[in-house]
Amino acid sequence: MSTEPAAAQPDLFDKVVNLCKRRGFVYPSAEIYGGFRSTYDYGPLGVLLLRNVKDAWWRSMVQLRHDIVGLDAAILSPPAVWEASGHLQNFTDPLVDCRNCRERFRLDQLDDPDLCPACGRRGTFTEARQFNLMFMTYAGPVEGAGHEVYLRPETAQGMFVNFKNVLETSRKRPPFGIAQIGKSFRNEITPGNFVFRTREFEQMEMEFFVPPADTQHWYEYWCDERLGWYRSLGMPDHLLRLRRHDAEELSHYSSATSDVEFLFPWGWDELEGIANRGDYDLTQHAKHSGERLEFFDQAANERYTPHVIEPAAGATRTAMAFLMAAYDEEEVEREGQGKGETRVVLRFHPRIAPYKVAVLPLSKKAELQEPAREVLSLVQPHWMCDYDETQAIGRRYRRQDELGTPLCVTVDFETLDDRAVTIRDRDTMAQDRVPIDGLVEHLRARLDVD
Ligand code: ATP
Repeated sequence: MSTEPAAAQPDLFDKVVNLCKRRGFVYPSAEIYGGFRSTYDYGPLGVLLLRNVKDAWWRSMVQLRHDIVGLDAAILSPPAVWEASGHLQNFTDPLVDCRNCRERFRLDQLDDPDLCPACGRRGTFTEARQFNLMFMTYAGPVEGAGHEVYLRPETAQGMFVNFKNVLETSRKRPPFGIAQIGKSFRNEITPGNFVFRTREFEQMEMEFFVPPADTQHWYEYWCDERLGWYRSLGMPDHLLRLRRHDAEELSHYSSATSDVEFLFPWGWDELEGIANRGDYDLTQHAKHSGERLEFFDQAANERYTPHVIEPAAGATRTAMAFLMAAYDEEEVEREGQGKGETRVVLRFHPRIAPYKVAVLPLSKKAELQEPAREVLSLVQPHWMCDYDETQAIGRRYRRQDELGTPLCVTVDFETLDDRAVTIRDRDTMAQDRVPIDGLVEHLRARLDVD
């Protein structure tokens, strides 16, 4: 029996993708029309998982702090924003075409820059050209020059553009942060690896504005803090690392960046970047907009442009990493039958698990429905619950294991006499008998863990 979630194993990717489809986490988009490459829809389980990832981030970044406030900025934005940010000029990837098989690649992602991975030929690539990743469209009924707008390729610019508004209305002063969760769009040349890289995705970003002299301190602080966040939600140490960028890897705006990386089945890859952006963004927007984007420190009688530390994470990519980290298989005896079988279980941290509790009447018989519904209505106001009354109980436990539900509450015929229920634990499969009257407190003690 394995005690740890499966590490980066080669077939883990296919197993997780299969489970996602089979159990309603993620579906290919527009599937009945043959699918739409590299876009995905989040099903009943996926929407809960993604929401839990975002809620856990919001809780740690906004709710539990006094120095960070939230924002929800528009997705459509005028060219002026992207002119100032440098995205119109610099948000490009080098693209090469294979003259033989006509496949396209990102030059910087090829293992060998001269070898086409699709057809195996050498020397067939065109000269690299810079391809801008932003999606452009038109606002209003007129298409053409002067009506272009962009779908944001990151949420960060919303925070810089609103720096003055937030400073004036929130009574915050540096060091303070603005946090945002939302959709971003990039016309990726090579989307792939399931929801790891898609053209439409969700980000969780925070811009932390600090006095220039304190930049290094806050950069180190946020590197530690962010790595700690993944650990606190059950990601094991051997699947996580912090990697500092070399000088040549840095973006046009950054003087230092570290990535939080996860050991995916194909190797280490980025979950989040923590960048020291200096005063680049505020200075650029001040220059282009004509607004003063500074802070006046009355005590020191000093005016300065704050520097920015930015932890920028992907919500959809992180949800996928939680799925990979949680996936486990173990050989067990069939519950109650003594025969061996493989149990698939998602060992999610309770905060991440889509359903926290499943209420399962032992049989569909009418006399069990009333107490089962009573139990459901007691538990539902506190946690997301599943309710399932068909199939043998052992198979229903297995289904909940595959959904990652930490606790099952079973209502059986004894419940009618003793007003107690059985609580079955996902990880240990141990069962405890608990009175209905103290049920919510009992569940709280087991689910509300930090
Ligand atoms: P990459 O090098 O993988 O293209 P990036 O360094 O450009 O990513 P950032 O601009 O730092 O990414 O974005 C912050 C985070 O947003 C990334 O760490 C990632 O989790 C997420 N992200 C970026 N692009 C995508 C995408 N196409 N699909 C899903 N998530 C993405």
